[in-house]
Amino acid sequence: MTVLGSGYVGLTAAALFAASGIKTYIVDPNQERLDTIRQGKSFFYEVGLDALISKAIKDGNLLPTQSYSESVAKSSLVFSAVGTPDNPDGSSNLTYVFAAAKEAMLYMPDGTVYVQKSTVPVGTGQKIIELFKTSTTRLSYVSNPEFLREGCALQDSLWFDRIVVGGTNQEALKRIMALYKHIHEARLQLQTLSDIKPPKQVRAESYITTSLPSAELIKVTSNAFLSLKISFANSIAKLADKVGADITEVMSAVGADTRINPAFFNAGRGYGGGCFPKDVSGLIAAGLEYGVAMPILEASQAVNASMPGYIIEKLQLACGKSLKGCKVAVLGLAFKADTSDVRRSPGIAIANKLAKSGALVTCYDPEAMSEAKLELLSTVKLMASAKEALEHAEAVVIATDWQEFKDITAQQYASLLKKGILVDAVNCFNAVVVRKTGIHYIGVGRS
Ligand code: NAD
Repeated sequence: MTVLGSGYVGLTAAALFAASGIKTYIVDPNQERLDTIRQGKSFFYEVGLDALISKAIKDGNLLPTQSYSESVAKSSLVFSAVGTPDNPDGSSNLTYVFAAAKEAMLYMPDGTVYVQKSTVPVGTGQKIIELFKTSTTRLSYVSNPEFLREGCALQDSLWFDRIVVGGTNQEALKRIMALYKHIHEARLQLQTLSDIKPPKQVRAESYITTSLPSAELIKVTSNAFLSLKISFANSIAKLADKVGADITEVMSAVGADTRINPAFFNAGRGYGGGCFPKDVSGLIAAGLEYGVAMPILEASQAVNASMPGYIIEKLQLACGKSLKGCKVAVLGLAFKADTSDVRRSPGIAIANKLAKSGALVTCYDPEAMSEAKLELLSTVKLMASAKEALEHAEAVVIATDWQEFKDITAQQYASLLKKGILVDAVNCFNAVVVRKTGIHYIGVGRS
């Protein structure tokens, strides 16, 4: 089989397929990424992934290449996992999706199933089906949206909530489901190889077959709803700040209602990454195309956009003066813990906003330093460790809840920070314990 695109999704899927014993080509125009894979590694940080890649490369089951003719022509299953960034107007940029489908069409043998893993707007699959009708070979199209989360991508893939496949060709749908059942059967072997622990909570592991438009809509609707939960928690957090409530108490009790569920109710600096922001704007744009307004999602975007500034205002209020010349450490530059991905990272937005307001900013992230360097203003200083960043600071903003930052004790923060202001932009500390050390603790919605 072939996987088109060696990014977060494509490489994870290809590594799993190949490490389970299936000969898998991974195709990407990016030679640097392919060279890294050839060395048995991933270009991004994801726990357990290097072990799978290394084994699959050694066994000759993972075959990196730039060539469609070398790979697609020898495959009966072709997965597309190319990027779908957003256009300046927020709609989905499908340039890579159509370029991959068009090139694959030139080489796919009769009977090939083309599987769309990339997140695409509803209606895209039908357009590709129309394209495939112009081919002399018989091709099937299946939508198989990806739900993995960076930072626990292998855990999510091995213990999934649901596998969704959508399309009209029943044989093709069955083939894809059979592939995932094979991965499920190989789970123990893949788990041992990657040293991934099972999730604490049991996952449903449902296999769901739907129509093509339903499958396309399921993916973006899931992400839009999760973004909504975060923005909802942040809206309530702003009120909690005014009335002396603690948002962590509020949302955990609200989420204790089984109709609601506590996941994604963490108030803080808002969502980022390569998916939520663009999937929300993509859904708004898709709605507009069909004359359906989505004010609820526009509200989610507006709340999210306000959060980095809201956090900086809190810091400024605590400092009692302008932030000009104030030494601030920002810990956490990846858009979330356990990844090196900095796409639309709130930590970077906060660091750059602070620097623009004249603060002297030092930064550190356990895995995302080289990626972050490209996104940060030149006045922001990158330090070699959390301790080094803190030693130069009067205040710290914890922007990503890496375990490494939670392992630093409140006493250590108190002694390292000159002014003792700790802005917990991810609400990951026990406010009472931290305040006991004399630190001025500022959470989001925890006044
Ligand atoms: P990415 O940007 O990390 O990777 C995309 C890769 O595709 C790049 O390496 C690029 O060089 C390659 N590419 C571009 N054009 C190509 C072509 N014609 N042929 C072969 N390769 C090509 O993207 P990603 O984060 O892996 O996301 C891929 C898709 O999966 C997106 O639609 C995204 O929304 C979706 N998704 C991502 C995640 C996630 O957590 N990253 C989760 C679920 C779904």
